[in-house]
Amino acid sequence: DDQMKTSRKQHRIFVEGTDVPGIVSTFKQLQSTHSINETCIEAITEKMGFKTLTPIQMQAIPALLHGREVLACAPTGSGKTLAFLLPVINHVLNRLRIRKKGTNRGFLALVLSPTRELAKQTLQECNQLTRRFVGGKPAEELLNVKLLDRSQIERFTKVGKKHSKKMDILISTPNSIVYLLEHDPPLISLEGVERLVVDESDKLFEEGKEGKSFREQLGKVYASCNNPSVRRAMFSATFAHDVQQWCLLNMDNVLQITIGGKNT
Ligand code: ADP
Ligand code: MG
Repeated sequence: DDQMKTSRKQHRIFVEGTDVPGIVSTFKQLQSTHSINETCIEAITEKMGFKTLTPIQMQAIPALLHGREVLACAPTGSGKTLAFLLPVINHVLNRLRIRKKGTNRGFLALVLSPTRELAKQTLQECNQLTRRFVGGKPAEELLNVKLLDRSQIERFTKVGKKHSKKMDILISTPNSIVYLLEHDPPLISLEGVERLVVDESDKLFEEGKEGKSFREQLGKVYASCNNPSVRRAMFSATFAHDVQQWCLLNMDNVLQITIGGKNT
């Protein structure tokens, strides 16, 4: 326990909350003790060539694997994407394993990014983690990951809720998802969502001045993610008091992780 404190201090990992899970520092450890999928670990260590976890990954990954609700703040470029994608992918894969073959019930995870561009980058990283390529051809696709772009919105408008049946993970901007939710009748359902991630939450709180504010949009998404087992996480580059207050009010036993101190 003292050793854990020393390690956290060394990596400038600050935590607030009860029952804080220990940090994980190697990808091998993730595979052996947390049973993270081999294809994902191979993608990280071979394709992407990462050697060690970054501090936010060391603490956020085990916390999310334990099903904790998390508010994480770590500088730009510190590897936040992998910190939330790996636990999300792991959860979805575990759920699909116990789900009967041929029973597609729609996406189990939703990732919100403030802009289309960031959402697209998150999709690319997710695809890297879940696809194995041999000789340039996809040899294995672990999951069906979709970006809610214009063509997907069109499909939902034509087909309705059932268009999401074969999806496992959906990545979207708040605008796009709220557009489908508020359509009459609603064109999408978030009832099946078990993992919700809000990336760049501080930015999202600043923006959305025209039309619905982000806070209202987030409220709508939260209310729509009404699955009893839903777990939520927020990630941002800067510490923002309004985001923290929102999380303390709306999340369950939230674990706050800050890397390098609150730089405000
Ligand atoms: P953030 O969202 O915190 O700004 P990103 O998730 O976009 O950061 O990651 C920044 C860069 O660091 C990306 O190019 C990513 O591939 C790389 N990266 C992420 N995790 C690691 C790691 N464990 N080791 C080395 N590079 C990493
Ligand atoms: Mg990021």
